[in-house]
Amino acid sequence: MEATTSIVLPDFLPYLLAICVLRILWQFYQLRVMKGRILAIDIFDRSGTRMYLYAVADDLQACEVCRSAHGTVFPPSEVMKSQFSPIKGICKSPARWIGFLVGLHGAWPEANRIVERLRLSRQREPIQLDQDELREMILGPWERSISANTDRCAIYVLEAVLGDCTNPSPSMEKYRNRLEYAKEVRHMPLIVPVCFRLVELLTRQGQTAEALHWNVSMSLGHLPLAFSVEPRLSKS
Ligand SMILES: [Zn+2]
Repeated sequence: MEATTSIVLPDFLPYLLAICVLRILWQFYQLRVMKGRILAIDIFDRSGTRMYLYAVADDLQACEVCRSAHGTVFPPSEVMKSQFSPIKGICKSPARWIGFLVGLHGAWPEANRIVERLRLSRQREPIQLDQDELREMILGPWERSISANTDRCAIYVLEAVLGDCTNPSPSMEKYRNRLEYAKEVRHMPLIVPVCFRLVELLTRQGQTAEALHWNVSMSLGHLPLAFSVEPRLSKS
Protein backbone atom coordinates (compact mmCIF):
# COMPACT_ATOMS: atom_id res chain seq x y z
CA MET A 1 0.00 0.00 0.00
CA GLU A 2 1.46 3.36 -1.10
CA ALA A 3 1.66 5.97 1.54
CA THR A 4 0.95 9.48 0.28
CA THR A 5 2.07 12.47 2.24
CA SER A 6 1.06 15.98 1.48
CA ILE A 7 2.12 19.19 3.12
CA VAL A 8 -0.63 21.69 3.63
CA LEU A 9 0.66 25.23 3.53
CA PRO A 10 -1.16 27.78 5.61
CA ASP A 11 -3.18 30.36 3.70
CA PHE A 12 -1.28 33.29 5.16
CA LEU A 13 2.14 32.05 3.97
CA PRO A 14 2.17 33.99 0.66
CA TYR A 15 1.35 37.20 2.55
CA LEU A 16 4.08 36.49 5.09
CA LEU A 17 6.60 35.91 2.32
CA ALA A 18 5.51 39.11 0.56
CA ILE A 19 5.99 41.09 3.79
CA CYS A 20 9.46 39.56 4.27
CA VAL A 21 10.47 40.45 0.69
CA LEU A 22 9.19 44.01 1.11
CA ARG A 23 11.08 44.30 4.37
CA ILE A 24 14.32 43.15 2.71
CA LEU A 25 13.77 45.59 -0.19
CA TRP A 26 13.15 48.43 2.27
CA GLN A 27 16.36 47.63 4.19
CA PHE A 28 18.27 47.54 0.90
CA TYR A 29 16.79 50.90 -0.12
CA GLN A 30 17.68 52.45 3.25
CA LEU A 31 21.23 51.18 2.88
CA ARG A 32 21.52 52.75 -0.58
CA VAL A 33 20.12 56.04 0.70
CA MET A 34 22.58 56.06 3.62
CA LYS A 35 25.45 55.44 1.22
CA GLY A 36 24.28 58.31 -0.98
CA ARG A 37 23.47 56.03 -3.94
CA ILE A 38 19.80 56.97 -3.98
CA LEU A 39 18.45 60.48 -3.65
CA ALA A 40 15.54 60.27 -1.23
CA ILE A 41 13.14 63.10 -1.84
CA ASP A 42 10.23 64.10 0.33
CA ILE A 43 7.29 64.45 -2.09
CA PHE A 44 6.00 67.37 -0.02
CA ASP A 45 9.33 69.20 -0.23
CA ARG A 46 9.97 70.18 -3.83
CA SER A 47 13.29 71.89 -3.00
CA GLY A 48 14.94 68.62 -1.95
CA THR A 49 16.30 70.35 1.18
CA ARG A 50 16.37 67.96 4.14
CA MET A 51 18.09 70.19 6.68
CA TYR A 52 19.19 73.77 7.26
CA LEU A 53 22.52 74.52 8.91
CA TYR A 54 23.26 77.85 10.55
CA ALA A 55 26.90 78.94 10.43
CA VAL A 56 28.60 82.04 11.79
CA ALA A 57 32.16 83.09 10.97
CA ASP A 58 34.46 82.49 13.93
CA ASP A 59 35.08 86.15 14.50
CA LEU A 60 35.72 88.01 17.74
CA GLN A 61 33.14 90.60 16.75
CA ALA A 62 30.33 88.03 16.79
CA CYS A 63 28.27 88.23 19.98
CA GLU A 64 27.67 85.21 22.24
CA VAL A 65 24.06 84.86 21.04
CA CYS A 66 25.23 84.36 17.44
CA ARG A 67 28.22 82.22 18.45
CA SER A 68 25.99 79.85 20.40
CA ALA A 69 23.79 79.36 17.32
CA HIS A 70 26.75 78.34 15.15
CA GLY A 71 26.37 74.72 14.00
CA THR A 72 22.64 74.45 14.71
CA VAL A 73 20.78 72.17 12.31
CA PHE A 74 17.07 72.79 11.73
CA PRO A 75 14.45 70.63 10.00
CA PRO A 76 12.86 72.40 7.00
CA SER A 77 9.50 72.43 8.78
CA GLU A 78 11.03 74.63 11.50
CA VAL A 79 12.57 77.10 9.04
CA MET A 80 9.25 77.51 7.23
CA LYS A 81 7.54 78.83 10.38
CA SER A 82 6.74 82.53 10.18
CA GLN A 83 8.39 83.31 13.54
CA PHE A 84 11.54 81.32 12.80
CA SER A 85 14.87 82.76 13.84
CA PRO A 86 18.15 80.80 13.78
CA ILE A 87 19.35 82.54 16.96
CA LYS A 88 17.90 82.30 20.44
CA GLY A 89 17.52 85.92 21.47
CA ILE A 90 18.60 89.23 20.02
CA CYS A 91 22.00 89.81 18.45
CA LYS A 92 24.13 92.04 20.67
CA SER A 93 26.48 93.29 17.95
CA PRO A 94 25.87 96.96 17.11
CA ALA A 95 25.53 96.24 13.38
CA ARG A 96 23.88 92.80 13.74
CA TRP A 97 26.10 89.88 12.86
CA ILE A 98 26.03 88.05 9.53
CA GLY A 99 24.93 84.44 9.69
CA PHE A 100 24.51 81.90 6.91
CA LEU A 101 21.45 79.68 6.85
CA VAL A 102 22.41 76.97 4.41
CA GLY A 103 19.94 74.43 3.00
CA LEU A 104 21.30 70.98 2.21
CA HIS A 105 20.00 67.72 0.84
CA GLY A 106 23.07 65.93 2.19
CA ALA A 107 23.18 62.52 0.49
CA TRP A 108 26.74 61.57 1.49
CA PRO A 109 27.21 59.39 4.60
CA GLU A 110 28.37 62.10 7.04
CA ALA A 111 25.44 64.37 6.13
CA ASN A 112 23.00 61.46 6.08
CA ARG A 113 23.88 60.66 9.68
CA ILE A 114 23.00 64.23 10.66
CA VAL A 115 19.69 64.07 8.75
CA GLU A 116 18.96 60.82 10.59
CA ARG A 117 19.84 62.40 13.97
CA LEU A 118 17.50 65.26 13.13
CA ARG A 119 14.75 62.80 12.24
CA LEU A 120 15.19 60.90 15.48
CA SER A 121 15.48 63.99 17.70
CA ARG A 122 12.54 64.49 19.99
CA GLN A 123 9.72 66.20 18.09
CA ARG A 124 12.22 67.00 15.30
CA GLU A 125 13.84 69.73 17.34
CA PRO A 126 17.05 71.44 16.12
CA ILE A 127 20.32 69.72 16.96
CA GLN A 128 23.71 71.25 17.63
CA LEU A 129 26.90 70.19 15.85
CA ASP A 130 30.32 70.94 17.30
CA GLN A 131 33.11 72.24 15.07
CA ASP A 132 34.57 68.75 14.50
CA GLU A 133 31.22 67.33 13.39
CA LEU A 134 30.72 70.31 11.13
CA ARG A 135 34.13 69.89 9.51
CA GLU A 136 33.65 66.13 9.17
CA MET A 137 30.43 66.72 7.26
CA ILE A 138 31.80 69.46 4.99
CA LEU A 139 35.01 67.54 4.25
CA GLY A 140 33.04 64.35 3.51
CA PRO A 141 32.75 62.91 -0.03
CA TRP A 142 29.86 65.17 -1.00
CA GLU A 143 31.11 65.50 -4.59
CA ARG A 144 30.65 61.77 -5.13
CA SER A 145 27.12 61.79 -3.74
CA ILE A 146 24.00 62.05 -5.83
CA SER A 147 23.20 65.44 -4.25
CA ALA A 148 26.50 67.03 -5.35
CA ASN A 149 24.91 69.46 -7.80
CA THR A 150 22.17 70.42 -5.36
CA ASP A 151 24.57 71.03 -2.48
CA ARG A 152 27.64 72.43 -4.29
CA CYS A 153 26.90 76.14 -3.71
CA ALA A 154 26.02 75.57 -0.05
CA ILE A 155 29.17 73.54 0.62
CA TYR A 156 31.42 76.16 -1.03
CA VAL A 157 29.86 78.83 1.18
CA LEU A 158 30.31 76.70 4.32
CA GLU A 159 33.95 76.02 3.42
CA ALA A 160 34.48 79.76 3.04
CA VAL A 161 32.72 80.63 6.31
CA LEU A 162 34.67 78.12 8.39
CA GLY A 163 38.03 79.36 7.19
CA ASP A 164 37.58 83.06 6.56
CA CYS A 165 39.14 84.35 9.80
CA THR A 166 42.25 82.17 9.87
CA ASN A 167 42.84 82.27 6.13
CA PRO A 168 40.75 85.02 4.55
CA SER A 169 42.18 85.09 1.00
CA PRO A 170 40.92 81.66 -0.21
CA SER A 171 37.58 82.31 1.48
CA MET A 172 37.24 85.69 -0.19
CA GLU A 173 37.88 84.02 -3.53
CA LYS A 174 35.13 81.51 -2.77
CA TYR A 175 32.74 84.33 -1.82
CA ARG A 176 33.53 86.15 -5.09
CA ASN A 177 33.02 82.92 -6.97
CA ARG A 178 29.58 82.41 -5.40
CA LEU A 179 28.52 85.94 -6.27
CA GLU A 180 29.53 85.35 -9.88
CA TYR A 181 28.01 81.91 -10.35
CA ALA A 182 25.02 81.69 -8.02
CA LYS A 183 22.24 81.72 -10.59
CA GLU A 184 19.52 79.53 -9.19
CA VAL A 185 16.58 80.49 -7.01
CA ARG A 186 17.63 78.08 -4.25
CA HIS A 187 20.89 80.07 -3.88
CA MET A 188 19.00 83.28 -3.11
CA PRO A 189 19.24 83.18 0.69
CA LEU A 190 23.03 83.02 0.50
CA ILE A 191 23.72 85.90 -1.88
CA VAL A 192 23.26 88.82 0.51
CA PRO A 193 25.17 87.40 3.52
CA VAL A 194 28.00 86.33 1.18
CA CYS A 195 28.21 89.87 -0.22
CA PHE A 196 28.10 91.46 3.27
CA ARG A 197 30.84 89.16 4.51
CA LEU A 198 33.04 89.76 1.45
CA VAL A 199 32.70 93.53 1.83
CA GLU A 200 33.61 93.24 5.51
CA LEU A 201 36.74 91.18 4.83
CA LEU A 202 37.80 93.46 1.96
CA THR A 203 37.38 96.53 4.16
CA ARG A 204 39.48 94.99 6.94
CA GLN A 205 42.26 94.28 4.46
CA GLY A 206 42.16 97.83 3.11
CA GLN A 207 40.80 96.78 -0.29
CA THR A 208 38.27 99.56 -0.22
CA ALA A 209 37.86 99.93 -4.00
CA GLU A 210 36.61 96.36 -4.39
CA ALA A 211 34.53 96.64 -1.21
CA LEU A 212 32.87 99.69 -2.70
CA HIS A 213 32.29 97.86 -5.98
CA TRP A 214 30.38 95.05 -4.26
CA ASN A 215 28.51 97.51 -2.05
CA VAL A 216 27.39 99.47 -5.10
CA SER A 217 26.48 96.25 -6.95
CA MET A 218 24.33 95.20 -4.03
CA SER A 219 22.71 98.62 -3.70
CA LEU A 220 21.89 98.80 -7.41
CA GLY A 221 20.56 95.25 -7.53
CA HIS A 222 23.30 93.98 -9.82
CA LEU A 223 23.89 90.86 -7.77
CA PRO A 224 22.24 87.74 -9.15
CA LEU A 225 18.86 87.15 -7.53
CA ALA A 226 19.78 89.42 -4.63
CA PHE A 227 16.60 91.31 -4.15
CA SER A 228 14.10 88.59 -3.58
CA VAL A 229 15.91 87.44 -0.48
CA GLU A 230 13.95 87.09 2.72
CA PRO A 231 15.69 89.35 5.30
CA ARG A 232 15.25 86.77 8.07
CA LEU A 233 17.33 84.30 6.03
CA SER A 234 20.04 86.75 5.16
CA LYS A 235 21.13 88.17 8.52
CA SER A 236 21.25 86.95 12.07
ZN1 LIG B 1 25.14 88.58 17.30
